[in-house]
Amino acid sequence: MSFRITYSVLDADLSQLHAEFDKALSAVRGKLGAEHPSFISGEPWRGGDLLDSRNPANQELLGRFHRTPLSEVDRVVRVSREAQKKWGATPWQERARILKRAADLISERRMELAAIMTLEVGKTRLESLGDVEESADLMRYYAGQLEEAEGFVKPLARLSPKEDTRSVLRPYGVFVVISPFNFPVALAAGMSAGVLLGGNTVILKPSEETPWCAEGLYQALHDAGLPPGVFQLVHGEGESLGAALVSHPGIDGVNFTGSQPVGMEIHRRLTAQSVRPCFLELGGKNPAIVCRDADLEAAIEGCYRSAFGLSGQKCSALSRIYVHEDLKRDFIAGLAEKARATRAADPSLASTYLGPVINDASVKRFERAVAEARQGGTVHAGGGRPQLDGALAQGHFVEATVVEVPHGHRLMRDELFLPFVGVTGFRTLDEALGMANDCIYGLTAGVFSRKPEDVEAFMDRAEAGVLYANRRTGATTGAWPGVQSFCGWKASGGSGKGGCGPYYVSQFMREQSQTRM
Ligand code: NAP
Repeated sequence: MSFRITYSVLDADLSQLHAEFDKALSAVRGKLGAEHPSFISGEPWRGGDLLDSRNPANQELLGRFHRTPLSEVDRVVRVSREAQKKWGATPWQERARILKRAADLISERRMELAAIMTLEVGKTRLESLGDVEESADLMRYYAGQLEEAEGFVKPLARLSPKEDTRSVLRPYGVFVVISPFNFPVALAAGMSAGVLLGGNTVILKPSEETPWCAEGLYQALHDAGLPPGVFQLVHGEGESLGAALVSHPGIDGVNFTGSQPVGMEIHRRLTAQSVRPCFLELGGKNPAIVCRDADLEAAIEGCYRSAFGLSGQKCSALSRIYVHEDLKRDFIAGLAEKARATRAADPSLASTYLGPVINDASVKRFERAVAEARQGGTVHAGGGRPQLDGALAQGHFVEATVVEVPHGHRLMRDELFLPFVGVTGFRTLDEALGMANDCIYGLTAGVFSRKPEDVEAFMDRAEAGVLYANRRTGATTGAWPGVQSFCGWKASGGSGKGGCGPYYVSQFMREQSQTRM
């Protein structure tokens, strides 16, 4: 299927885009501090205690969200089951039409949604706009999959002329969708759209860090005409509300994106009682290999962008670099210089590249990683907390950090989810590939080499779902709907078929063979 992406952020007139963003930001600022409901059965629900959403750049209160108490979980599941009967029987053309309408509404509201995201997650403007654009594109792309497959009904061979057999993909029922904080609209939208297009209903539990972003998605789906109860939005902590939802006997599956340990816990809970589909897209510890004949400047640029974009808080972020010993000194010097020149700043400003990390736990993880790097290696750039004035002094800011540690070090093994990258030298490509693959994760990987045979060896042997060669726009990051399938291997994922890819929607349906005489 050919699919045209809405590349508007990339193609846009930047001065107009910034002017529109500023306007949206000031309108959104006028709404700070309000109380927001959960959405159950198509209605706003208030009555829970309040979850505060705060700006990671300065701790300002953004909104107060009514948590969905555990006592409401049975009702939420019941509503979802009831709504699924009609939604599952709704013609696929109508399901696709509603999702495409919701995509259009997200595009129309993109500035407001992006402004909310910059305040709630600390993403820079262009990162936020990219997230919103991607949400709409994912919904359109997935709707196109349903249309192209004509609802996934396929005639099969006939045993006799009197017999007519079809393979029909049917919905599973009720899905719990649990999303992470870092792509708070795109991932919630993409995961939910795939599930909904398959004729299932969704109970969305977003990250407790991003309830406002999730409300924007809810409003678009609601305003697009999704019937009540088909998509419900609940708020609360993962360990309590999330765990209660995925353990509930009344749900039929889970679509989860988040960290590996949480994904494994969800899998255990969901499958403890019966076999139910559990789609997991998890963390990464993504390597890049810089060969001796690499274009050094392109390698530095690509590694810089992938290590520090979105403050290193991408599942695809670059966190391990294996560089040929002959290039190592120059490579580290170049990367460290760029990192030192990158000042963390208020993400709502047009000029900012490095915003805050999401919360205090991330800052503590950063401080521990730096201490370990100082003990077991060398810190070449960063390693501290920037001194920022005024309210920003309360923000969760850390410096872009480059360290050199041996391959066996914990910092080259555990996902940190920070603007923090480790570098190690190598002598042969075999050795580099061995180290790159010596990791439980297998999400993305990159190589820089001018030798086609080295690139091919990398493509053949790298153990990751998404591979890139010689990409100065991002060594290991950047996936577009319909362009790259985003699929985790090994501990990075469980579905084998990723978001942004051509097989996404069909995963959320089960096959039925229908023979008629
Ligand atoms: P996280 O801590 O794993 O949380 C993800 C979601 O799970 C949140 O909504 C969280 O709710 C919920 N949760 C936590 N504990 C739970 C439990 N016991 N039962 C049910 N739900 C639970 O991840 P994060 O910090 O938000 O996001 C970063 C992680 O996501 C990284 O590991 C990153 O690599 C991964 N990620 C992967 C992809 C991919 O495509 N492979 C894409 C983006 C991010 P609370 O926030 O309320 O705790």
